[in-house]
Amino acid sequence: RQDLIGKTVVVVGLGVSGRAAAKLALARGASVIGVDNNAHLLPLEMDPGFGGQDLSRLKTELGPHQRKTFFEASKLVVSPGVPVSQPIVSDAIKNGVPAVSELGFATEVFPRSIKIVAVTGTNGKSTVVTFTGQILSQAGIQTFVGGNLGTPLSEASLQCLSFPVDDPPFNAAVVEVSSYQMELSGSFNPLVAAVLNLTEDHLERHKTMESYGMMKCRLFSGMGPLNTSAIPYSDSFLRKLAFQSGGKGSRAWLGGLPGVQLDSQAERAIVVVPTTGAEVCLNLNSVNCIGLHNRHNAGTAALLALALDVGLEQDGLQRALSTLQLPPHRMQLVCEDKRGVRWINDSKATNVAATYTGLKGFAGCKSVVLLGGLAKVGSEENLGFGQLVEVLGSHIAVIVFGASREKIVEELHAAGLKIPCISVESMANAIDVAKSTAQRGDTILLTPACASFDEFSNFEHRGQVFSNLAKA
Ligand code: ADP
Repeated sequence: RQDLIGKTVVVVGLGVSGRAAAKLALARGASVIGVDNNAHLLPLEMDPGFGGQDLSRLKTELGPHQRKTFFEASKLVVSPGVPVSQPIVSDAIKNGVPAVSELGFATEVFPRSIKIVAVTGTNGKSTVVTFTGQILSQAGIQTFVGGNLGTPLSEASLQCLSFPVDDPPFNAAVVEVSSYQMELSGSFNPLVAAVLNLTEDHLERHKTMESYGMMKCRLFSGMGPLNTSAIPYSDSFLRKLAFQSGGKGSRAWLGGLPGVQLDSQAERAIVVVPTTGAEVCLNLNSVNCIGLHNRHNAGTAALLALALDVGLEQDGLQRALSTLQLPPHRMQLVCEDKRGVRWINDSKATNVAATYTGLKGFAGCKSVVLLGGLAKVGSEENLGFGQLVEVLGSHIAVIVFGASREKIVEELHAAGLKIPCISVESMANAIDVAKSTAQRGDTILLTPACASFDEFSNFEHRGQVFSNLAKA
């Protein structure tokens, strides 16, 4: 399957997925040039991940991009972090250079017999992907779990290259997809796909909600009668965009039937898969993860796993639900201190909608809520922190920290916040105040609703610092 011998593949952006794509391109026989405008990155030739590869076909260009490299490429593989609108990329495309995202590039050699479920949406992707992977693995199905989360799809394709086409190492793949990866998604056509929700995020790149949503709904565009697309029943905007995508697959509803329907307390789910008619009733009380929204996520994962039609049995599925484990930094119980105060890390709540959902699903637990960081770009009306007042009402206090704290406090007060609100400079200060505010039996919940870059390198770093301080 050395289908790229004699071709030059230029990989634009050398993060985790760019490096995986470069390895795959080498394995497919191409000459590879990796480019990145960050001059301080490790050149591919020196990356231990490329050990054992034919380095004579590998080059790295760091610093300002060279037009010649882009225009003479046989193919550009554009990493998710690089907008297609960047002039050098769009000019090369206009000049006839084929371009594809890392996801699309991986798909070119991904065995067709592996059943793919793809998950996108503004929030909940990683959780639903992780849960779906856990359900399938528990049923004994060899499953790749990755994409935008963890291992890029190119790594899975690379692994598949060393197996016979008709006997791949996986039976199923659960792939998290971001809107960025859909910009040049090539022939990526999952058997089952879900757009979990759509709220304001990443508008600095997509500009409007319409184009952000359309990008996600592209997942459905190649679908035929055997495919299943899942979207929220109650979201008329997403319904319209899904319809406009032109896909012909069966529709499963999140929050309706066919699809998955939960009762008001999220204790029971009924799942009906439209393509197979399979109907399963599940008890969600056994889901051992914090937050009501995670029961919804478990129900969604059950629907997606059933829709793959890989022979899941109701009993096995029910057992799998009781073993589901959240990925780190999502409603993660860090510790319970000597006073019986629980510390919970939801650092991945990086936008208002994520925090809203997290707090809504946590209404019964009296909490000191830690909120703040760097507010995201968006229209005032939809991104407003004021929306959180509705779900903060049942809690003890809110402590606001970080670069955007003034804006957040102002918006909370303007929306009529009734609980005490304290503004401090850093997350460490917020933790100090939280410690003295919380009493026996209370919870201290980090759910920032903001990006972390004012104080931390990413949300994982923020979550780790919170966890370390909590334990200390
Ligand atoms: P993503 O991968 O889309 O960023 P995650 O699964 O990592 O999503 O969850 C991010 C945050 O979103 C969580 O910390 C939680 O607060 C919130 N969240 C989880 N599930 C949902 C959901 N189904 N709808 C809305 N928000 C959610």
